[in-house]
Amino acid sequence: MMSDFMQETRSTCPLCGSAQATVAGRLDRHRRPLTTLLCLSCGLYRSDPLPSPEQLRAFYEKQYRLEYKGVAKPKAHHVLRAARAARDRLNWLLPHLPDTGPWLDAGAGSGEFAFLMQRHGLDVLALEPNQGYAAYIRDDLGIPVRQGFIEDLPTSSGPFAGISCFHVLEHHPDPVQALSRFRTLLAPAGLLAVEVPNSGFAHIHPRNRFHPAHLVHFNPANLELAAHAAGFVTIECRASRDGGIVWGVFRPGPAHTVHPLPGAAGLLAAQERGRSVARYYVSPRVWGRTMIRVARLGFERCRTIAFTSSRDYLSQLPLR
Ligand SMILES: [Zn+2]
Repeated sequence: MMSDFMQETRSTCPLCGSAQATVAGRLDRHRRPLTTLLCLSCGLYRSDPLPSPEQLRAFYEKQYRLEYKGVAKPKAHHVLRAARAARDRLNWLLPHLPDTGPWLDAGAGSGEFAFLMQRHGLDVLALEPNQGYAAYIRDDLGIPVRQGFIEDLPTSSGPFAGISCFHVLEHHPDPVQALSRFRTLLAPAGLLAVEVPNSGFAHIHPRNRFHPAHLVHFNPANLELAAHAAGFVTIECRASRDGGIVWGVFRPGPAHTVHPLPGAAGLLAAQERGRSVARYYVSPRVWGRTMIRVARLGFERCRTIAFTSSRDYLSQLPLR
């Protein structure tokens, strides 16, 4: 018999197809209505209902950056923060990088990673759905860019020696379909680098877990399941040192059918029940992260004073 925690839903999980799920949230981080389900078969969280492709396209072309960052172009402190993240990603990927391109940075955002990859010596194409940010990448950073979605990129634009998609998959209602698209664009020995927020991260305020633009939420195990279902093999897939994000590096391989994770339902149910505001505030890691954030704001304020342009800053940023 099904416990109270488990229920059959009308929608099915876009990763494993199961209808067995529990409600993990009824509100988004802005306290607006948003139902989020946790699949008790594979552990993927998903918004319910998922928006239509037409709604998504209109939102990402014009709205998303304004809603998320409050600006149509990045400000200096956004560039400083994104540049450090881009450098971390470059150093993480260095042991795996091909000697030559071309490299596709899908969902390039404000283009810092694409810029550093070009500095590293690879031919880079940035793909960015937002009109304002695509223009910024082209005009301010001088990086070749295509404005649009992964589905808009013709197969003839590949094959790419590598594709990066950082904080992209959580915005896609069908992540296996998106990963399969990347696979068709990759060279046979190409590299796929993925970064997504970690849904298993315990040190986040329960009220801040669900962003309305994040349609699905991964942990390391089900990111691997999604990649394997799309025809990739894992080189590396793990949580970051602070646990907040999942990093995955994959290469093309055979496609696998998705099987439920053994014992997932019980573990996931316990994890979901264990989250509470009180537990969040007594966590030493939460206070440690808060102090790091305050120090980072001070650092960014100092550096912003001397900031001249994004291109100058990224050109002079030490890469190690
Ligand atoms: Zn599932």
